[in-house]
Amino acid sequence: MATVSETNTDFVATADEARDSSSRRSRRRKTSHLKSVPEPLELREQLRLRCREVADRLDKSTPLTKDQMESIARQLLADAGQPESFVGWAMVMLASEFWREQVAATDPSRRLFLLPHCLKHAEGCPADYDEFGLDCETCGACSIADFRGMAEKMGYRVLVAEGSPIVLKIIVSGYVDAIVGVACLNVLEKAIDKVLLAGIPCVAVPLLSSDCRNTSVDEAWVNEAIQLQQTQPVERTRSYVHLMRAAANMFDPDELERLAPRSRSGPRLSDIDDIETLDAIAATETIGYDFLSKGGKHSRPFITLAVHDALTGGHATGPDGQRALAEISDSVRRAAMSIETFHKASLVHDDIEDDDKFRYGEMTMHRRFGISTAINVGDYLIGLGYRLVSREAGTLGAEATSAILDGLADAHMKLSEGQGAELAWRDSSKKMLTPLDALKIYALKTSPAFEAALMTGVHLAGDSEKYRQPMKLFARNVGVAFQILNDLKDWQGDQNNKLVSGADVLGGRPTLLLALACEGLDEQDRAELESLFDSGSGIEQGIRVARVRYLYEKAGVFEKANRLVDKHQDRAEAIADEIEPDELRRLLYYLVDSVLERKEEPAVKVVDLEASLS
Ligand code: SF4
Repeated sequence: MATVSETNTDFVATADEARDSSSRRSRRRKTSHLKSVPEPLELREQLRLRCREVADRLDKSTPLTKDQMESIARQLLADAGQPESFVGWAMVMLASEFWREQVAATDPSRRLFLLPHCLKHAEGCPADYDEFGLDCETCGACSIADFRGMAEKMGYRVLVAEGSPIVLKIIVSGYVDAIVGVACLNVLEKAIDKVLLAGIPCVAVPLLSSDCRNTSVDEAWVNEAIQLQQTQPVERTRSYVHLMRAAANMFDPDELERLAPRSRSGPRLSDIDDIETLDAIAATETIGYDFLSKGGKHSRPFITLAVHDALTGGHATGPDGQRALAEISDSVRRAAMSIETFHKASLVHDDIEDDDKFRYGEMTMHRRFGISTAINVGDYLIGLGYRLVSREAGTLGAEATSAILDGLADAHMKLSEGQGAELAWRDSSKKMLTPLDALKIYALKTSPAFEAALMTGVHLAGDSEKYRQPMKLFARNVGVAFQILNDLKDWQGDQNNKLVSGADVLGGRPTLLLALACEGLDEQDRAELESLFDSGSGIEQGIRVARVRYLYEKAGVFEKANRLVDKHQDRAEAIADEIEPDELRRLLYYLVDSVLERKEEPAVKVVDLEASLS
């Protein structure tokens, strides 16, 4: 039977070294070979105990980065004489032990209990799905009903669903402060990026397999995790949650009206049954405010608030974050809101140009109110975005206000240029594209808004000159990587948001994937690819998408694109390595980890387009 060998390793030293080395980040790598679950249970118990001993001695003031977690997990396994393949599992256990006391100190009524639906009895489960996931009928055929019953009795909110976005949404909405979760190592790997690095207390129990069907788990561990209780005060780790909530809260309808009072009187759109009853003069503002308060991750205003906080002491992420947040001025909040307002305006116009049907799971504005009205509301939001900053000059100072407006205007113009280039390509009969063309469009379409969000936070905090160039380069690399990931996600679909695979092909968008395919295919395949992007070709949509996927795979496009994401991510992290102070550097690392969420493993082959954007 496998056992953990004795060791004298000083884990605190290992952890300190890992923390010290956090000024340099490791490169991304394949992780599929690191996700084995130790067998048997006795070995898992021993390793979990070792993780607990190590975690108990770690400095809890800041969340561990992914690299730090991996470094400590590797050392722990090596000293225990266990293989590298357990690294993913050990990282989850280490993170769980790191947060265990803080979860235990959170009242169960403020905890979320998260279960995966693959635990259900696949053949006989009578439960249906609703908007909150699987609606278990407690038939007793699997452990879900028992876990759920115990957690609900203690006051937990329970969700049988998967995916970190919905979990983050629930946390940001303010209903819960900690998570007890069960998931496979694939899901937990992503959760580490989205949840743990944000500083959200979470104890996770890994499934014993990642088969997605009739899975199992160490049930005693789950019961123990659910019942965690702690009455003593505990040290609280730095967290971005308060800032995330502040960013989202600015767009709550009441807070939105407090910070940016409407000029026209009248009901909100959500209170009206018949749109015809809208006052004609108030209609534009009413629709605009309604759209501003709708969905979205509010990542741009979060970035602005977080940069401002990082450069003014990082108090909002500390143990007294709630109080620090209350001290953020309304002028700073309005400047952060302006970024989201521009973003929302661009979404309205984008949806018209692409004739998208859905936005935030609802009908797009132009489909609901007509194209002319939607264009006009988008224009209104642009005006509102500028006014949110321009009227704050008395508080922010003329220099900062002018710098922020200049940054916003620059981002606005570049975005329009990028979008214009995309539209020109779409309307042209020539459908070939080089990777350089695609990357130039990406650098214009995504990066400037990201840069504006970062630099607005810098300007709000004071001295900005030394950050101008690094922020520009950081934003460019993260923006390009983000856009490539968006291309890749287009081939994965998203039923929750009513998106379908291959929408870029059907919408005739010039993507890097297409450019890489044009570069990698022979003449005959290229000609076929070009014909598939022609919406007037008469080829049925499903066949077009399937053939494009085939040709992309033939050209190795998905692997190449993932590799490119890797390169841009490395560059962004190298820039972050040199940034002072610590609070801002940590934030940049967090942004890289949370913005660049990948579903595919990076490929081995390198496509170097390094010089393309310089
Ligand atoms: S206990 Fe619930 S989830 Fe499990 S099989 Fe029965 S209905 Fe499905």
